[in-house]
Amino acid sequence: MSQARDARTSGAGMNRSKIVVVAALVALIGVFFALGGHRYLSFDNIKAQQASVQALFGSHPWTTAALFFLAYVAVTGLSLPGAALMTLIAGAIFGLLWGTLIVSFASSAGATLAFVVSRFLLRDWVQTRFGQALRAINDGVAREGGFYLFTLRLIPAVPFFVINLAMGLTPMRARTFYWVSQLGMLAGTIVYVNAGTQLAAIESPAGILSPGLIGAFVLLGLFPLVAKRTIEYVKARRVYARWRRPARFERNVVVIGAGSAGLVSAYISAAVRAKVTLVEKHRMGGDCLNTGCVPSKALIKSARVLDQIRRARDYGLQQASATFDFAEVMARVQRVVRTVEPHDSVERYTGLGVECLEGAANIVTPWEVDVALSDGSTRRLSTRAIVIAAGARPLVPPIPGIEDVGVLTSDTVWGLRTLPKRLVVLGGGPIGSELTQAFARFGAKVTQIEMLPRILIREDPEVSQMVMQRFASEGIDVRVNHKAKRFVIENGQKLLVAEHEGGEVRIEFDQLLCAVGRVPNTEGYGLETLGIPTTRARTVETNEYLQTLYPNIYACGDVAGPYQFTHVGAHQAWYASVNALFGSFKRFRADYSVIPWATFVDPEVARVGLNETEAKERNIAHEITVYGLDDLDRAIADGEAHGMVKVLTVPGKDRILGVTIVGEHAGDLIAEFVAAMRHGLGLNKILGTIHIYPTLAEANKYAAGAWKKAHAPEGVLRLLARYHGWMRGGA
Ligand SMILES: Cc1cc2nc3c(=O)[nH]c(=O)nc-3n(C[C@H](O)[C@H](O)[C@H](O)COP(=O)(O)OP(=O)(O)OC[C@H]3O[C@@H](n4cnc5c(N)ncnc54)[C@H](O)[C@@H]3O)c2cc1C
Repeated sequence: MSQARDARTSGAGMNRSKIVVVAALVALIGVFFALGGHRYLSFDNIKAQQASVQALFGSHPWTTAALFFLAYVAVTGLSLPGAALMTLIAGAIFGLLWGTLIVSFASSAGATLAFVVSRFLLRDWVQTRFGQALRAINDGVAREGGFYLFTLRLIPAVPFFVINLAMGLTPMRARTFYWVSQLGMLAGTIVYVNAGTQLAAIESPAGILSPGLIGAFVLLGLFPLVAKRTIEYVKARRVYARWRRPARFERNVVVIGAGSAGLVSAYISAAVRAKVTLVEKHRMGGDCLNTGCVPSKALIKSARVLDQIRRARDYGLQQASATFDFAEVMARVQRVVRTVEPHDSVERYTGLGVECLEGAANIVTPWEVDVALSDGSTRRLSTRAIVIAAGARPLVPPIPGIEDVGVLTSDTVWGLRTLPKRLVVLGGGPIGSELTQAFARFGAKVTQIEMLPRILIREDPEVSQMVMQRFASEGIDVRVNHKAKRFVIENGQKLLVAEHEGGEVRIEFDQLLCAVGRVPNTEGYGLETLGIPTTRARTVETNEYLQTLYPNIYACGDVAGPYQFTHVGAHQAWYASVNALFGSFKRFRADYSVIPWATFVDPEVARVGLNETEAKERNIAHEITVYGLDDLDRAIADGEAHGMVKVLTVPGKDRILGVTIVGEHAGDLIAEFVAAMRHGLGLNKILGTIHIYPTLAEANKYAAGAWKKAHAPEGVLRLLARYHGWMRGGA
């Protein structure tokens, strides 16, 4: 791969239909001014013409009304000045009732027209360039945009046309925009049309709105927001109505589950001197320490050492070999877990000021948790807030025969002491892929089954391809587009029958490892009793503050989703605990704007932000810069010259939309881009940062350099060439 394989642009540019619309708009506005429309729509002129227009209405009422309606829609749709005056005329010509009716519909239709045109022409562009910055506004509009619009319409502070054009740039639905506008503008319309009926007596439009009237509008405008807050309050009270609230609480927070999310919640609570109890029914450290990240990375490391020994010749070593006992490898995995264990231990957390209870928690009321302790007794804890961090467990799909053949999961695989000869791994996600490669490197004949067209489906196709190629070169049999139908045992032989291209494929195996996803733990600890709802993804339903149906009960980590990573659980834990403890003063919305992750296969895959597939699916304009690691000095020296840094940026700008890195230590390398995205630094800043030579981290700088090269100011460079020629004494 070359240094800058390419820098491509795609997405929302100005297409032909947009050019046509812009041209039509410019022409119509031009015609309006050329014909003196702006002069015609002046207050004095209208007063002067009143009698003749009224005469026209008298002779041709329907035609006049229809023409007026169309003219009103045109003026407001084109965002031309004069809407307020036309409203007065409506009152003067048609009277209060008909004037109000005509203006109410015409102004709403015109406003919606302007809204749609603004959306058509500008929304993609605005959302692409400022999407990140606008995220909070977009979310706000999606949640309560109707209320805001209603307020804006009622309070005549922001000009009519500005609201139309600005709202077109938000995700608000046109239908909502129309009816909220019509409703919100009704009071103002009546006031203006009524004033119009007295047109002769009005000296100027400014006199129509007295300070008192404006004050009334402001109160009316605030009403929906106040009403909303009141409804929220009443709703919360209703949720709690059937429960008796204790007069006082023994503690501030009870945290259920001592995985990464629960541990961090307890840690933060104790750090700010709250009284916190952490309840764990199984093992401190949860999945990450005991059955997830830690053991899997320990196993992957041993497998990698073995792979490097096998590749000794590539490093100029004629002869290197390794013999190993798989049981010892697995014993090392457990030693690693034991070494990390003290970080998550009861002793450590007790020392930090957390009360640790070993037992199963059960939420009995919104403020009380029963803990079934290991000695058989039960303790009832009263608490102001509860943080649910109960995690997730491996999903074993109900495929016929699966239980008969015996199924390993990420919970049980760590108990293996004998290497399976032939292993079938169900699932092409990160966990399935990591374990597939590790077991294959120890010498198991692994067949990986994935029903989708490629493994690591969340990543770009070329990324999956790179990993699949490596898997194939290591002798792994990756079967994509294979759907497991049933498991059978024939003559003592275990068989997977999979559906593939309309037919059936039979795959023999000795052991089966299922890694097709993880289901949140939402049963058996009180959610059902309290009626706390779950989502379609089976996570506990929370709002953006991580509150469940009961505002004092929070959820974080795998049980809350939407991501299932240790670092995201820890990130959410901050929001859950801080909101639980200080939410009465200030609540914080969980921020998922820059979430990184890595899959620890070889070559490693790391990502932050958008990838190309997502940018295309969401029609987000982007440029792609790819820097091939085959070009990087350190990667060449290390014998790891493969992979890439792929950066998506805003067209013409150095703002990073997302990065995918494939290659040695990708998970570490991406940290620089995560920091850059988090703090709004662009590729120019990365390029302007000194990177140590020779390191893999230089790849980030070279990717930025490739982007810069593709954006070199050609005109300036031509001038510079001339300047230098001139300095050399040439022409
Ligand atoms: C094989 C594998 C590899 C992984 N690798 C990575 C990786 O490299 N990087 C990464 O970021 N993530 C990785 N993950 C995911 C990571 O392990 C999880 O995202 C993380 O553990 C979630 O933390 P949690 O606190 O939400 O839940 P958990 O760690 O599952 O903790 C929940 C805890 O709650 C306890 N609990 C549940 N109900 C109750 C109750 N009623 N009373 C008391 N206690 C209760 C459980 O016993 C458990 O200990 C991996 C996962 C697996 C399976």
